[in-house]
Amino acid sequence: MNKGLDISVVVPLYNEAESLPELVAWIDRVAKANSLTYEIIMVDDGSTDGSWDVVKRLKEEYPSIRGISFMCNYGKSPALYCGFDMAEGDVVFTMDADLQDSPDEIPEMRRMILEEGYDLVSGWKKKRYDPISKRWPSKFFNFTARVMSGIKLHDFNCGLKAYRRKVVKSIEVYGEMHRYIPILAKRAGFKRIGEKVVAHQERKYGVSKFGIERMVKGYLDLISITFMSHFGRSPMYLFGGLGTLMFLFGGVTALWIIVDKIYSQYNGLVWRGVTEQPMFYLALLAIVLGVQLFLAGFLGEMINRRSTDRNSYLIDNRIDK
Ligand code: UDP
Ligand code: MG
Repeated sequence: MNKGLDISVVVPLYNEAESLPELVAWIDRVAKANSLTYEIIMVDDGSTDGSWDVVKRLKEEYPSIRGISFMCNYGKSPALYCGFDMAEGDVVFTMDADLQDSPDEIPEMRRMILEEGYDLVSGWKKKRYDPISKRWPSKFFNFTARVMSGIKLHDFNCGLKAYRRKVVKSIEVYGEMHRYIPILAKRAGFKRIGEKVVAHQERKYGVSKFGIERMVKGYLDLISITFMSHFGRSPMYLFGGLGTLMFLFGGVTALWIIVDKIYSQYNGLVWRGVTEQPMFYLALLAIVLGVQLFLAGFLGEMINRRSTDRNSYLIDNRIDK
């Protein structure tokens, strides 16, 4: 067990064999120049190009390397999640393996965490060396994410980020949620989220691992994460609320149509049969939907109830005896 390790650098990698030697040498150089004790955690996400062999070879030269390799390609989020689990440094960094992020940013980002009190510092690739097909959608995503989360970041998905260790131990990066880690962190109660403009480079070796489908997935993930942030703990507030409104609307309308028909009939006024009025069917539909929504709320609550225990709550401080 490393005691008092300054930094951990978690590197998710999928077929990045060519970049790894340069990346490790660079991180090592920066750490030594700043007298930082460090570990590099290589998470091989099921590479098929011999990346893991490169990691093992590098380990002989750089003992600070640790790592795991997945049986198959699970994705960047699971890779980060498992890397976070292993990390022991006081400040934990994430960095892409493709040399697009610069290890030179490490000391300043670390300082922001330790001295300025940030929980998370996200890189901002202000000047980006990516194709335009990636830059424009990314601008749109960042705008939407900013509006929906209230976190003032320009570049949510930057691979280079620094965290106070407690943050990475408290968040669960699943699915493709690596794009929205700042939102996950905020939801877990870490509100001091900062940003630093970082240098960005063109990919030197290999190819990007995310295609056009990143837009669709990214968008859907943003919707789920927004939903979870607002109603994750109490789904009944959303579904029950909507359900009640629909049920009331349907019930009152149906009742009114029936009462109106009976009243008109008995008083010799012009009347229409209940089932001849389209509005009646809409009212029935609203009643059924209302009940459905209620059921969804109950199911959500039951699932929550079963999956919540004391470990679901993060404890900040504690006084004993
Ligand atoms: N990556 C990964 N698993 C995947 C896809 C990507 O571990 O399924 C890693 C990849 O090796 C790189 C980082 O995640 O270190 C970012 O990927 P990439 O550079 O392809 O993304 P982009 O820069 O195009 O957003
Ligand atoms: Mg990249």
